[in-house]
Amino acid sequence: MLSPRNCGAVCALGEHADAIDLARLVMERTPHVILAGAGADSFADAQGMPRGDLLSETARARWQGWLRGEKSVLHVDPGLDSRAAMAKSLGERHEPHDTIGVLAIDGLGVMAGACSTSGLAYKLPGRVGDSPIPGHGLYVDPEVGGAVATGTGELVMGICGSFLAVEAMRRGASPLGAVKEVLERLDAAYSLEPEHQVGLIVVAREGSRSSGAIRSGFAMVVADDEGVHLEAPEFVLRPGPKESQP
Ligand code: ASP
Repeated sequence: MLSPRNCGAVCALGEHADAIDLARLVMERTPHVILAGAGADSFADAQGMPRGDLLSETARARWQGWLRGEKSVLHVDPGLDSRAAMAKSLGERHEPHDTIGVLAIDGLGVMAGACSTSGLAYKLPGRVGDSPIPGHGLYVDPEVGGAVATGTGELVMGICGSFLAVEAMRRGASPLGAVKEVLERLDAAYSLEPEHQVGLIVVAREGSRSSGAIRSGFAMVVADDEGVHLEAPEFVLRPGPKESQP
């Protein structure tokens, strides 16, 4: 994503692993913003992108075991109780995963953002998280700055988390102020459970930055003229031990 007018995304890819490269092609070569599922894979084939297996053998075996043992979680009746039970069951299986969110400013001062993920583990077929949706997992407005989120996508999506962070800066907040506004909005909007985690990185147009998370354990990597280093979040809503980190 370069700007509201210049963004692209893909989701539910079945055959191609290079999601960010493909998202960039959607942005550069189509009039669309998001391509999903088989259509995204066809577009990737047409663009000459290599096909690949998206699951390692280990991941496939664990997923198949889960499907065999607990398929009932896929068929719970609609309604508040079963909805909560399913969320808990899925949440308890929350494992560290692979979301990469990047905000970069080049030598000419142009900001770009990118985000890639396999999504939460053990999700229902068809589930789309926050990462491929502009304004949710990632947002960039060159007039203001950018934000990228990781963690429980369903929480981020309910409050348009990345958009909210950029809008906070548009209203005058610092990157840290924007991080706090988003995390406090999450706290107000949801009853946060122990398995919930959201991490947020916010960069202002001129390069100042901040990051924060619901719980401890989130960290961002900073690469600048001084080298590459890990930075702890400036704000943690509920500090404490957390085994599964996004
Ligand atoms: N936010 C991603 C999702 O909900 C997962 C993650 O960041 O780890 O799919």
